[in-house]
Amino acid sequence: MKLSVLGAAESGVGAAILAKKQGYEVFVSDMSAIKPHYRDMLDAHGIPWEEGQHTEARLLDADEVVKSPGIPPTAPLVQQFMKQGTPILSEIEFAARFTDARMICITGSNGKTTTTSLIYHILRKAGADVGLAGNIGHSLALQVAEAPHACYVIELSSFQLDNMYRFRANIAVLLNITPDHLDRYDFCMQNYVDSKMRITRNQRPADTFIYWADDEHIPAELPKYQLASRQCPFSDAPAAGSTAFARDGRLVIEAPVPFEMPLAELSLPGRHNLRNCLAAAQATLAAGVSADVVRQGLTDFPGVEHRLERAGQVQGVHYINDSKATNVDACYCALDAMTTPVVLILGGKDKGNDYTQIDQLVRTKCRALVFMGVDNSKLHQHFDGFGLPVADTASMQACLTEAARMAQPGDTVLLSPCCASFDLFRNMEDRGEQFKQWVRSHQQSGD
Ligand code: ADP
Repeated sequence: MKLSVLGAAESGVGAAILAKKQGYEVFVSDMSAIKPHYRDMLDAHGIPWEEGQHTEARLLDADEVVKSPGIPPTAPLVQQFMKQGTPILSEIEFAARFTDARMICITGSNGKTTTTSLIYHILRKAGADVGLAGNIGHSLALQVAEAPHACYVIELSSFQLDNMYRFRANIAVLLNITPDHLDRYDFCMQNYVDSKMRITRNQRPADTFIYWADDEHIPAELPKYQLASRQCPFSDAPAAGSTAFARDGRLVIEAPVPFEMPLAELSLPGRHNLRNCLAAAQATLAAGVSADVVRQGLTDFPGVEHRLERAGQVQGVHYINDSKATNVDACYCALDAMTTPVVLILGGKDKGNDYTQIDQLVRTKCRALVFMGVDNSKLHQHFDGFGLPVADTASMQACLTEAARMAQPGDTVLLSPCCASFDLFRNMEDRGEQFKQWVRSHQQSGD
């Protein structure tokens, strides 16, 4: 069997190594430069590769292709594979062929990394033999090839799900579906919804499907599917059919296993995180973790970097790094969780945002707005009429100087920008790091 691998980063290199081990003839190709670390890994396994080009004749002569989720289906080479009928797989689909480990999979537009990390944290606490994979952690394929586990917690993006066919999640979690990445789905919301629903494919009666019942799309989709798995919907408050919710200051789970704990003990703040906690508790209970360990894990989970992360205080002002909020919905959740007046930092590379969703929260919670981007015109157009002080900046330094000037003691400066970071930063981590660095340096200098 011949396998072509498109994209030589974490997922592609892992898939190539697993394929080689399984006796495939593998060739890896990346249009960009391959990181030295990944080149070394390929060399160490004797896997041929190329960078900065695609040698089409060689690549097209394959029985299957593993495609990095970052490469869009419209890429000319991908189109050629489709035309000649070569199966295009995601790394997760490929890796799953070679393991019978239990798969706990998490998808959604927002909250994937938080919920995945929380589930992993609880399973580790329970002493489970568990690996972390998908969008976070190490490549599933590499783990299957070199350090297999009995169970994997896998964060799945819609791009990965698009190329999954026979994969089966033993426990599937679908957190929510809100508009995101529509540029990859012909600007058609239903295409994106269909992609997210693929997490339920191939589930059997012994499997569990956990989903947010208050979501606008998920309950409406269910009648289209004859799902065989056990359904465990959760909701913010008690509701007909819901199996997990908050009631009278307690987190209550009725299925898959009864469980209760005080909301005040949850380590993660905000209503959105309550949903993540409900889902994580249901998933880990379904995986057989004891109630005591689930409760402990929800209590001492330290949170995830760049997601509502407390960066510190400067001159009595709190700074919160939510750099990961690259869409409007995430910013909505962050504002909703705020308990002080907010100086909100917005801006970056706009992915077709509609800001009206946060209008009400901006009016009620924000003291001022700071725009940080190469082109802030859309933000001005939308928010300038609100009567709030507004500052226009194009660097983290300038942005935080303005934010500090406008904030009063007790306020929160919140970086929750609704936009991607690529106009001014390497990525969202770089943006969050620069934010935290500014806070650290001003704490030290006593500014
Ligand atoms: P993802 O991995 O799906 O991008 P993260 O856990 O990294 O999600 O969180 C990204 C942002 O989404 C956070 O900054 C937070 O503001 C928001 N968020 C987290 N959980 C939820 C949720 N359940 N519903 C809506 N928004 C959420």
